[in-house]
Amino acid sequence: MSKTLVLKDERCLNHITRSGHPESPKRLEAIYEKLKDDDIRGKFSEIKPRVATKEEISLNHSMEYIEKIENTAGKHFINLDPDTNTSEGSWQASILAAGAVMTGIDKILDKSANNGFAIIRPPGHHAEMSRAMGFCLFNNIAIGARYLIENHGLKRILIVDWDIHHGNGTQNSFYNSPEVLYFSTHQFPYFPGTGRFEETGEKDGKGYTVNVPLSGGQGDGDFLRILREILQPVAEEYNPQFILVSAGYDTYQHDPLGTMNVTPEGFFLMTKFLKHLAEKQCDGRLLLSLEGGYHVEGIAESVKCTLRGLSDEETDISSDMESREEDRVSDSNIESTIEKVRKIHSENWLGLK
Ligand SMILES: [Zn+2]
Repeated sequence: MSKTLVLKDERCLNHITRSGHPESPKRLEAIYEKLKDDDIRGKFSEIKPRVATKEEISLNHSMEYIEKIENTAGKHFINLDPDTNTSEGSWQASILAAGAVMTGIDKILDKSANNGFAIIRPPGHHAEMSRAMGFCLFNNIAIGARYLIENHGLKRILIVDWDIHHGNGTQNSFYNSPEVLYFSTHQFPYFPGTGRFEETGEKDGKGYTVNVPLSGGQGDGDFLRILREILQPVAEEYNPQFILVSAGYDTYQHDPLGTMNVTPEGFFLMTKFLKHLAEKQCDGRLLLSLEGGYHVEGIAESVKCTLRGLSDEETDISSDMESREEDRVSDSNIESTIEKVRKIHSENWLGLK
């Protein structure tokens, strides 16, 4: 059986958002409770993450900004942007969230685990170098990618971002670099406004940002087709040494902030797809980090299905995938969306020609 690691820490509940805010500690509480279900227990091992040091966070953020967040420790609500605030416990939660990604990376690289899931908050993919944004304080996944490059000497990291929102912070961190290939599916136009087809990277990073903007309403079959028809040929050519995933669950069918149609089984199949891809490309090295997802029961069930996918031994899901794709394509225009991405990137990736 694949050894799957869950990185979790109750202190991530101590980042408190304002009353009625969708990114509430209840999300993580529901997931942590769900991990106790009989049919999932024993399929993974749980460990507590270490905290990230300021030097490690500074791989992706300015020291001035890091100290600004550190200075919120122990203080009541401080607003950082119209929908992002800190509370007494936010600094500690945020260094644990970034630390969880690095803990997972170390465990996977030293082979004490095959894959893992950092089930933490606050989320990260909107956070910019010197700015909190969209419920995010530090960009956990971007810090993880920098850590793989700077501390472990890796040269090719694939980040897959399936959150409904575009990960502007992550894209900006690596826009000029071929060391990270950023692949994102997201609703567009939508918050934060970035992620057009034409945003493909610049300078040495040209072609290493792949955006798949979607109109809304897409379901399991659509996402699986995008992974198979766009991500797979690009990833096979890129040949990543590690796959990181910004795992957002606001594409879940009943999410209060989203309009997508992904079911918990859809997350299981997407995870299986990425697990299989990682096994073919990079010795199975795959680490997910929690981003959005605001339907409390939906996120808990979907995370559970993701963990089933990570720990599942059976890797051949081609028949499942194809039947899922046929059954569950909700978007009659998905073909033209895929064509458009292939056309824009055909000069960057032979597999898309
Ligand atoms: Zn989101």
